[in-house]
Amino acid sequence: MVKQTIQIFARVKPPVRKHQQGIYSIDEDEKLIPSLEIILPRDLADGFVNNKRESYKFKFQRIFDQDAKQETIFENIAKPVAGSVLEGYNGTIFAYGQTGSGKTFTITGGAERYSDRGIIPRTLSYIFEQLQKDSSKMYTTHISYLEIYNECGYDLLDPRHEASSLEDLPKVTILEDPDQNIHLKNLTLHQATTEEEALNLLFLGDTNRMIAETPMNQASTRSHCIFTIHLSSKEPGSATVRHAKLHLVDLAGSERVAKTGVGGHLLTEAKYINLSLHYLEQVIIALSEKHRSHIPYRNSMMTSVLRDSLGGNCMTTMIATLSLEKRNLDESISTCRFAQRVALIKNEAVLNEEIDPRLMIKRLQKEIQELKDELAMVTAEQRTEALTEAELLQLEKLITSFLEDQDPESRLEVGADMRKVHHCFHHLKKLLNDKKIFGNNTVSNTVSSESKDQDCQEPLKEEEYRKLRDILKQRDNEINILVNMLKKEKKKAQEALHLAGMDRREFRHSQSPPFPPGNPEEGQRMRLSSAPSQAQDFSILGNRSSLLHKKTGMREEMSLGRQEAFEIFKRDHADSVTIDDNKQILKQRFSEAKALGESINEARSKIGISENMAVPLMPDQQEEKLRSQLEEEKRRYKTMFTRLKALKVEIEHLQLLMDKAKVKLQKEFEVWWAEEATNLQVKSPAVNSLDHTKPFLQTSDSQHEQSQLFSNKSSGGWEVQGQGTGRFDVCDVNARKILPSPCPSPHSQKQSSTSTPLEDSIPKRPMSSIPLTGDSQTDSDILAFIKARQSILQKQCKFTSFGGSSRATGHQHLWGAHSEVGGE
Ligand code: ADP
Ligand code: MG
Repeated sequence: MVKQTIQIFARVKPPVRKHQQGIYSIDEDEKLIPSLEIILPRDLADGFVNNKRESYKFKFQRIFDQDAKQETIFENIAKPVAGSVLEGYNGTIFAYGQTGSGKTFTITGGAERYSDRGIIPRTLSYIFEQLQKDSSKMYTTHISYLEIYNECGYDLLDPRHEASSLEDLPKVTILEDPDQNIHLKNLTLHQATTEEEALNLLFLGDTNRMIAETPMNQASTRSHCIFTIHLSSKEPGSATVRHAKLHLVDLAGSERVAKTGVGGHLLTEAKYINLSLHYLEQVIIALSEKHRSHIPYRNSMMTSVLRDSLGGNCMTTMIATLSLEKRNLDESISTCRFAQRVALIKNEAVLNEEIDPRLMIKRLQKEIQELKDELAMVTAEQRTEALTEAELLQLEKLITSFLEDQDPESRLEVGADMRKVHHCFHHLKKLLNDKKIFGNNTVSNTVSSESKDQDCQEPLKEEEYRKLRDILKQRDNEINILVNMLKKEKKKAQEALHLAGMDRREFRHSQSPPFPPGNPEEGQRMRLSSAPSQAQDFSILGNRSSLLHKKTGMREEMSLGRQEAFEIFKRDHADSVTIDDNKQILKQRFSEAKALGESINEARSKIGISENMAVPLMPDQQEEKLRSQLEEEKRRYKTMFTRLKALKVEIEHLQLLMDKAKVKLQKEFEVWWAEEATNLQVKSPAVNSLDHTKPFLQTSDSQHEQSQLFSNKSSGGWEVQGQGTGRFDVCDVNARKILPSPCPSPHSQKQSSTSTPLEDSIPKRPMSSIPLTGDSQTDSDILAFIKARQSILQKQCKFTSFGGSSRATGHQHLWGAHSEVGGE
């Protein structure tokens, strides 16, 4: 059992504006315990609470100032916790602080750079690396991702997230067993066998969370998110299983309700968050007071779920995230005060071992059989007649399957018959002599003769050599797979280039098949197949827009006008620069991976050649030289291989970041689109009058809400035109609203000369002659497109008239390159 108080750390976020001097200081020289001093400027101190103190001092385990890197945070805070989780103890790391202070940045990471990845991806990386190293135990890893919003739990990994709104999802509920253990109903555990799989789950959850978020439901600041890694381990042959859980918690913003100053629905929500954090605080106060028997865990879902993490069987760490700007000082002081109370809580972590009854039964059965056999051997009369042909064959089959069985616990069960036991030994000896067991015999011959010859030079033991050879074989396979993938990608890229000339659009469709529904593993494989390929990585990226397609299911369904508007929207979107930057980095990484792959191949073939040359007939000196060359190559090979592996993880991560950014972009576009549609409707009262002239409005269920809004005003353009006035009214109003004559820029003129007939018609003709199609969806698209185009033309006009560089054009260029590459 390990007794420990909750560890508290502070992390100061870099300010948005330039560093404000004198607001805080960090004192790390004091013996052992560092402290953070927050200094209130006089003007603030006057009105602060009810005393006029000017400085507040708080002690922390460690304080990380603005320039602390994510790597440092992981090494100092998360790695020790992950280490004890690997040993079998529960662990929790939670971030607490006001909105914008860096909780999500610390726990999950930034959305832009690979180096900004936070505690979760780094911990996953670390844990899987350790699991791979440790062959003494068998491990299984599961992931769950829970969101608590307004006291309701949601499974962020529920596949239904894509299709339904938060309210329609099944709620995760708490069940308590007679031993007061908490169980979560409706929260799925997903097995993750590799780092990539776990990372995919993290991104899936984050994307689901983002999609569910609306302006009315700002889950990201008002909900708690608990990412849990469940780790089980078992030693071979043992019936004891160890379970450990690591909760990585991103709490809701801790700001106080008085400050938010909003009414109605939002106020209730703000209170809710504070209520749940208020209950957390109550639990913490109760725990820090001695002799309190009742701890009010049950008051809120979050405290119930984290019960063990708070004063229970867990090693818990809190990170107080602080945004130490003048206007945030009071919130920062609250955060620090909270941390000081948390630091008083003592936890008692125990190893969570339990005996698996099924394993136990299996073990006991085995033991009984062994005892029976032993007994039979001692008591039974000796059988002397020879074994039959069939019995021998049966035995040999048993031996073969025994040798092939990877399970270290497997046994060769032949019973209490000494004839059989002897035959097995004979057969195994024969196999060994035939060198069937260890594969390539010439080399092992070389090895043994070599080692015999060089007793004085620390000869490699045959065992070690075999191990090395096996590893080499595995690596060979891995390289072959990578090289094959490379070849395939190259071929694909060439085909793509060829096709691109013929029909770009068609090509895009065929190159971006959506993942088969309900088969995440397939998606996984496709992702992994994005192997290094030099400059022509666009086919790869084309394949990878899966998450986006799956999440939004859109681009293909978009009408032309909407697509056009989307292009414009994304061109001007701030995130486009990030996506573009990441694309460039990805390109570089792909090239680097490719070059590495080639070098690895080279090194491998060199190793092969040197090994074949290592015949014992060589003179000693030359042999020695070859030997050292071989070692050198092996070292080089190993370094490169490690680097290639790291690159693969980075590429995977970058791709997920980009997917997420794209989904975000698409989502923001949808919001913008809906707003535009509503605005148009509000601004065009005459349009509404159309409803009288055209009462028959047909909208299919599948049409989007905003289209329905639109269709109310613009439906039936053709029919109305026939009646004369109605049509004119609509378009005249719209013409004034959305088509004030643009200042014609050289750019727009050039554009119109190459544009589609529809585009052509817009600026030249008066609005009243724009033919609406009568299809409500299309008409809404046309109107929105006209509006978007209008605003762009105005912008361009502004830029060109100032004679400066055109930001819009610059961006278009960037996105142009992007669409080429991304196939989006
Ligand atoms: P919270 O989750 O507490 O509301 P975020 O993690 O979303 O806050 O951080 C708000 C913004 O500040 C984000 O844009 C984030 O990238 C940035 N940020 C937070 N902490 C840091 C840091 N240590 N270094 C750089 N940027 C940070
Ligand atoms: Mg956040």
